[in-house]
Amino acid sequence: MTGRDHRDLGGPTEKCGVVGVSLDERAAARPLYYALYALQHRGQESAGIVTHDGFQQHSHVEMGLVGDAFGEDDLDQLNGPVGIGHVRYPTAGSVNACCAQPFSVSFKSGSLGLSHNGNLVNADEIRDELAGLGHAFTSDGDTEVIAHDLARNLLEEDLVRAVKRTMSRIHGSYSLTIMHDDTVLGVRDPEGNRPLCIGEVDDGYLLASESAAIDVLDGELVRDVEPGELVILRPDGEGFDAYQLFDRENSAHCFFEHVYFARPDSTIDDQLVYDVRRDLGRALWAESGVDTDVVMPVPDSGRAFASGYADAAGEDGADVEFAEGLMKNRYVGRTFIMPTQDARERAVRLKLNPIKDIVQDRTVTLIDDSIVRGTTSTQLVQLMRDVGAEAVHVRIGAPPIVAPCYMGIDMASREELIAADRTTEEIGEEISADSLEYLSIESVAGALDQSRADLCLGCVTGEYPYDIDGETTDRDVERPTIGSEPAAADD
Ligand code: SF4
Repeated sequence: MTGRDHRDLGGPTEKCGVVGVSLDERAAARPLYYALYALQHRGQESAGIVTHDGFQQHSHVEMGLVGDAFGEDDLDQLNGPVGIGHVRYPTAGSVNACCAQPFSVSFKSGSLGLSHNGNLVNADEIRDELAGLGHAFTSDGDTEVIAHDLARNLLEEDLVRAVKRTMSRIHGSYSLTIMHDDTVLGVRDPEGNRPLCIGEVDDGYLLASESAAIDVLDGELVRDVEPGELVILRPDGEGFDAYQLFDRENSAHCFFEHVYFARPDSTIDDQLVYDVRRDLGRALWAESGVDTDVVMPVPDSGRAFASGYADAAGEDGADVEFAEGLMKNRYVGRTFIMPTQDARERAVRLKLNPIKDIVQDRTVTLIDDSIVRGTTSTQLVQLMRDVGAEAVHVRIGAPPIVAPCYMGIDMASREELIAADRTTEEIGEEISADSLEYLSIESVAGALDQSRADLCLGCVTGEYPYDIDGETTDRDVERPTIGSEPAAADD
């Protein structure tokens, strides 16, 4: 499903999408606008672009979808061949215009624009320290904290050393596109939790959360930004310089990007998301395939899982039909969103309608990417029974979500998560399925072609790759000590 669908149905919702471009002479505004359109699934709360024309910044940031946030006049006034953009789903900070991004501001050290995807663990500590040193904050978001820290470091250091110094102080998940005066740069946190990639177009280079944003500009994916790497796009679109500022033994990619958040047509960390989802579906059949008449995806992201599952079943000689038996009403929009159980239950009935002829008097396997609260799954199983299914099995292409996410995904609290305190069997009973199985962590790592140690698995193990108050960590990470003036960054 897209994030919007999941939000409507009470599932996890995405974080944000970031982009930055440096072109030869062409105005950056429209390429940024198209790129943000391609990243719309990552955030629908607000959209913004900040450009620089060599003399000054130009900014336009609005609440709402990309198509609603910008008119022709807005794009015309965003002058300059360099710029950054952002689509936001609120993670840290309030749900209002003050936290919409890119965050842009002028300091003594020059103008700065920042777009942030992720969530810092120690933003409050740094904010308190900087406030004590006289910095005035206008929002409660962690992006402004990064901006102030970087601006302060830029007073004493060159750009690379200033970024390194800020990175040594902030702890958590971040992929950033930054504009310092008319220089665009991108940074990925040392654990590489959030995606960020480099693309090339005819007259320049860009940085984006997902490669789909490069595709819409007829560009080519160059490569991912490495965890702990800083990439500076040269002016005039002439190339980029890369600096490996931090090296960790292990990364901590959010496995949910491939499972569900990213677009299937994006390539992240060298893997096409669609292929990974098909492989996850195949692994699901291998682990817990059940013979039924029909395999049915929960649209949209369940499709790739279900087609992989059905193919693998067919190769094993199972007589299983793959069918799109749940039709989505695409016009149930945000006006329907209400944070109550009743609203969420009704949203399912409005959004997904079963095709009776496919389901009636048959055994069905429903394939989905995750179960969060269980509301959607319960409703879908009931829908299948209402139209005459003989049996309803549910297979999930990810492990049970047992803990919240502190890295920027709105996953619900522990109390709300159906798997936090129940076994798979108990959840199956609760959603009234004839059987329920999840995919193992080992199979997820296998499909992602990553070692388990290089993935963030916080929401499915309760152990996180960062030092988070009150939680356990699955690695040797140390939160920086904040509160005294930091030492200068090493070369
Ligand atoms: S806790 Fe889960 S959703 Fe959050 S970053 Fe880690 S894997 Fe992704």
